[in-house]
Amino acid sequence: MSNNQYDLIVLGAGSGGLAGSKRAASYGAKTAIVEDDRVGGTCVIRGCIPKKLMVYAAHFSEQFEYARGYGWSVGPARLDWPALVAARDAAVRRLETTHEEYLEKTGVTLLRGRAQVADAHSVTVGGREYHADKILIATGGRPVLPQIPGGENALTSDGFFALHEQPDHVVLVGGGYIAVELASILRGLGSRVTVVIRRELPLAGFDEDIRIELAAAMRESGIELLTGRAPRSIVQKGKRVCLCVSDAGGGQGEMAIETDKVVVFAIGRRPNTEGLGLAEVGVELGAKGEVIADDDAHTSVENIFAVGDVTGRAELTPVAIQAARAWADRTFGGKPTLMSYEGIPTAVFSAPPIGSVGLSEEQARAKHGADGVRVYKSRFNPLIHTLTERKIATFVKLIVREADDRVIGAHIIGHDAAEIIQGFAVALKAGATKADFDATVGIHPSTAEEFVTMS
Ligand code: FAD
Ligand code: NDP
Repeated sequence: MSNNQYDLIVLGAGSGGLAGSKRAASYGAKTAIVEDDRVGGTCVIRGCIPKKLMVYAAHFSEQFEYARGYGWSVGPARLDWPALVAARDAAVRRLETTHEEYLEKTGVTLLRGRAQVADAHSVTVGGREYHADKILIATGGRPVLPQIPGGENALTSDGFFALHEQPDHVVLVGGGYIAVELASILRGLGSRVTVVIRRELPLAGFDEDIRIELAAAMRESGIELLTGRAPRSIVQKGKRVCLCVSDAGGGQGEMAIETDKVVVFAIGRRPNTEGLGLAEVGVELGAKGEVIADDDAHTSVENIFAVGDVTGRAELTPVAIQAARAWADRTFGGKPTLMSYEGIPTAVFSAPPIGSVGLSEEQARAKHGADGVRVYKSRFNPLIHTLTERKIATFVKLIVREADDRVIGAHIIGHDAAEIIQGFAVALKAGATKADFDATVGIHPSTAEEFVTMS
């Protein structure tokens, strides 16, 4: 095989690309991976990892407060933002290096530069052409900027991670994962936060009770949540910035929100397919430019495959990883592994965090009829709040299908929600019934036991 001929070329060294290339190489496939930015992709460099480190940082303000109820004397705490950012960025650099070393160890060739598909078996990188039997597209996505006057001056989550000073006041636009998480982080770290959403509640698509609890908790923490408002323009006023918003229902009510300088838009992401040459070689793209791929990662071109955010499906790291590994297992390992897009659990690292798997009550009733589901709810103060002044309720909900007693949805907002829901996701995947939940002995005292004691 010549130097630039491979069994597999992977485009994009993010969650999906790294996982797929290493798994393919482990079966002996001669593999190259192309990356035009930092190795690690969105999750490692400007997503999950730096975000979760900021979430941990933000938790301390809550912990200092709780500690007083437990007899601790806690002096006035002060955040050194530059120190936090420097430590976070150093950790990200270490992870990046680990990923680079791992590619080398597993025998995957890293090609640095912007990839373009030249034909169904060829990719150009920096003017040089490489050939492969199979091509895996894993180029991910990028944040959307608002199409409003002055929108080009807004920051996105990428800009948030580049802030080297703590902002006094941040205006966040959007009610999805990123806006909710960044709002909680910034509030926890001590900034003033305003969140502007078009709907009445954040996190469209999640269970409505969870959304109601979240909105209340955000407001209770001091976040200003403006609902039913759509952004119209961003105007620079000397050193200050003004975001104009109007009634999202099309009404006349205009309102201007002034801030020191930081307006962050978190209004979704677009797949990275521009200029990639995919349409030219016959790969079908969707309305947002996403690669149309089936559960087995096939695109409309026989030897070109796609996984992860670029396909516009559940934009989550473990989804990209699992889809890529399953594809490599089937393609190079001769294993029948399939990727399942059913019952994907998810967590939102808000304060308090949310864990969710399966259907919301609204989705379940729409699918199985108003009388086709049974719903169990519980709202309580977790034990930690017995000795704290501020109490943040935990809310837990189970959705059960009447016809066969199967638990088809589990949702929680409260401490440790992400850790708790991961285990219950296994139970739902295995088809557990409410009777199975009832027959399971709880762990006491814990929050998770609530899921197995609901009547
Ligand atoms: P990516 O990780 O985006 O990787 C794609 C790579 O392709 C990039 O490195 C890019 O530079 C490269 N690339 C693009 N075009 C080219 C080209 N033409 N040539 C060469 N290289 C190219 N998910 C979770 O599960 N949990 C979380 O807590 C979470 N938090 C998040 C927080 C934020 C702020 C953001 C933005 C996302 C978060 N996500 C989270 C989503 C998660 O990061 C993505 O779902 C995941 O990274 C997708 O992996 P991927 O491999 O599809 O794409
Ligand atoms: P989301 O799709 O989660 O949310 C987008 C939000 O922006 C919605 O509230 C939407 O409102 C709003 N919106 C869209 N267009 C406009 C507009 N023109 N003006 C005002 N508001 C608008 O996207 P995010 O950017 O928050 O995150 C992208 C993806 O990254 C997520 O979907 C998730 O898959 C992934 N992610 C996962 C995380 C995790 O696992 N914890 C954390 C962070 C990101 P409306 O509801 O009105 O349409």
